[in-house]
Amino acid sequence: MKQGLAPEQIVGWQGVSLVVPPDWSVTGFQGDAKEGYLRVDSPGSLIAEVRWAQARKQVNIRKRLDDYLNMVERQAKKRKVTFTGRIKPSEHEAGGLEFTYRADRKVRGIIRQCPECRRVVIAQVSGDTDDAVVNVSHQILDTLRDHSDDGWWTWALLGLVVRLPQQFTLVRSQVMSGYLGLQFRRGYTEVGVERWGLADVTLKRWPLEEWALHGTEWKRVKPRHTPGEVKAHPALVLNGVRRAPAVWLRRKVERLLLRRPDEIQGLVWYCEPGNRIYSVRVERGSPELLQQIVDTVQCH
Ligand SMILES: [Zn+2]
Ligand SMILES: [Zn+2]
Repeated sequence: MKQGLAPEQIVGWQGVSLVVPPDWSVTGFQGDAKEGYLRVDSPGSLIAEVRWAQARKQVNIRKRLDDYLNMVERQAKKRKVTFTGRIKPSEHEAGGLEFTYRADRKVRGIIRQCPECRRVVIAQVSGDTDDAVVNVSHQILDTLRDHSDDGWWTWALLGLVVRLPQQFTLVRSQVMSGYLGLQFRRGYTEVGVERWGLADVTLKRWPLEEWALHGTEWKRVKPRHTPGEVKAHPALVLNGVRRAPAVWLRRKVERLLLRRPDEIQGLVWYCEPGNRIYSVRVERGSPELLQQIVDTVQCH
């Protein structure tokens, strides 16, 4: 394990973010903004994990940590593994605690409750006995954020980095080989962000325009489209109207009452340096929102 880790890749989920080395990758995420879990694996045996839970009142974090460590100890005993653990006050944060323990693996972590957003966060780095767990844990957990200062949350994993106003709730996520799709909602406004890998292979068979019209969510919409540019990459600007007969009346009422157009607008672009295709769609939202979100995508 080398000493200088150079954490430089941002990972973000449900308002929690941390910075990890470029070759680490997200291998698990669960839950929502209220309560959830995120796991990031190194190519070796190191693993970073974050658990969060929203709380209204001040939480006894010492008790939460004791409960957590007791559970780990019980599991270790079942497997006849010796458990040793230690807790001390955090050097960085008032009220926070640091812990280290050893069972099958070596672990160092922190627990704290944010005085601003009231989230309780337990974060840890674990590794094999010969990993520099303490050192790596310091470097990575020092970058941990449990809320955003500007009201925009960073969603960053598996080659996608995008920011959305925090009022948007993630309603669907889809991870497949070479594909990541995230669907968000705020009131009547919906946002879809997608990224495809191995773009050169795809574009050999279908030009970008064909792909955007038939290979993406746009295939159900029959949009108007014009060529454009995103971050100096070739792009397609798309506009359409959602056809959904089953909810026609509801939509019509929404349109009349709330003056929300049923329009969908979006951009699909090919990032050659990253060898990826990206798509951002905004349904019943403003063109400014679309542009703002596209601007936050870090595609290469
Ligand atoms: Zn916070
Ligand atoms: Zn790019």
